[in-house]
Amino acid sequence: MSRLAMLGGEPAVPAGTPAPEWPVVTNAERAAVAEVLRSGRFTGVAAGEQEIPALEREWAGRVGTAHCLAVANGTVALSLALCAAGVAAGDEVIVPALSFVGSALAVAHLGAVPVFADIDPVTFNLAPHALAAARSARTAAVLPVHLHGLPAEMDEICAFARRHGLAVVEDAAQSHGVAYRGRVTGSIGTLGAFSLNASKNLPTCGEGGLVTTDDDELAAQVGRMRQFGEDIPARGERPYLSRSIGWNAKLGAIQAAFTRRQLARLDEASRARDRAVRPFLDRVAALPGFTVPVCPEDREHGWHILRFRVRAEAFGLPGEYAPALRPAATRVLRGEGVPVSRYQSVPLPEQPVFRDGGVAHRATDVSVCRAVVDDSFVIQRAQLNPGTGALLRRFADAFEKLWANRDVLVAMARSSRTDAPVPSLAHTDPLGH
Ligand SMILES: *Cc1c(COP(=O)(O)O)cnc(C)c1O
Repeated sequence: MSRLAMLGGEPAVPAGTPAPEWPVVTNAERAAVAEVLRSGRFTGVAAGEQEIPALEREWAGRVGTAHCLAVANGTVALSLALCAAGVAAGDEVIVPALSFVGSALAVAHLGAVPVFADIDPVTFNLAPHALAAARSARTAAVLPVHLHGLPAEMDEICAFARRHGLAVVEDAAQSHGVAYRGRVTGSIGTLGAFSLNASKNLPTCGEGGLVTTDDDELAAQVGRMRQFGEDIPARGERPYLSRSIGWNAKLGAIQAAFTRRQLARLDEASRARDRAVRPFLDRVAALPGFTVPVCPEDREHGWHILRFRVRAEAFGLPGEYAPALRPAATRVLRGEGVPVSRYQSVPLPEQPVFRDGGVAHRATDVSVCRAVVDDSFVIQRAQLNPGTGALLRRFADAFEKLWANRDVLVAMARSSRTDAPVPSLAHTDPLGH
């Protein structure tokens, strides 16, 4: 049994191993961005600008919707989609309790009220059975998030929405090009919203977003709302007339040009990532101490983020030790060179903006979300680029080493529960705490 790096052993990931690069930037992106700079056509209203409409056409084609509109970022994509769907101040929108805060802020920006519903403990997505308790007479929409790259239970969610006359806006910020029962996320609800932030699976060189829909009128509404509430005619003079309180939320031509070249490689990159991630998860799944992300047979997984839950019972501890085992596992794995972290440290209703900020919201019982937040850690996108296979084998070595040394974790978890000092470990804390 090899000694943990935290206790002076060799780390599973050798020191000096370069961090994977994301986004992967090739000469295709460099040439496309240079061409925009040369052309001087930087925005969608510049005469002759082609990159933005081309990206919109190509993404609509990939997702399978009639329309796509390029916007400034994923959060505003959600707000624009909700606004087009008719969500107005005072309306309620059901949001899963586990997501990036942008999912909820996009609702609050409209003066609408996010209503937080619990998640499934295995898929980490909105639990369809939690919808009924979250709905009220003021509910206007449901905002399922395809969290970590795994599509939500869209058939059940859309059936519920149809029964009650609600719009469905998909938060597909983490699930570019991922299929659910034969349809691609972003084409299943009333509208879909994507982020092109440089950290996402389909990135740009900075910030960006995309809205998708099949509905002509909703698309026109998003187009107007990203452009000061104006209708810009395809030909002729701009009339400078605003019809509603629009945003300025357009994507720039450089960002569109960059993302088009990423899009050309998206499917190949997704397949490569899938080939690297599945064997890694199989090795971790063989260790009883952790649950690994699942991908049900009827859908794909974008593997944007990998979330692992600690199973305290497998460590021979009662369940209430899981929140103490999580930081212990984090310390050990980071010591081995695996950059595990938390992704969301509280359920959304406990974000200070909602808890302390007086921003209107409502929460139902989110106890599954709370348990998941407390007992899980993640490996993020940056580690999962298409060439990550060799690195993930080292990560699997680290998990196996941790499991072989689980008595150390158990001691750490026990002592942290009783607030006893851990002098023999303190000076080797790899996080420098
Ligand atoms: C990234 C993200 C957003 C926000 O997108 P931005 O482009 O950063 O504004 C919204 N929801 C989820 C689930 C995200 O991951």
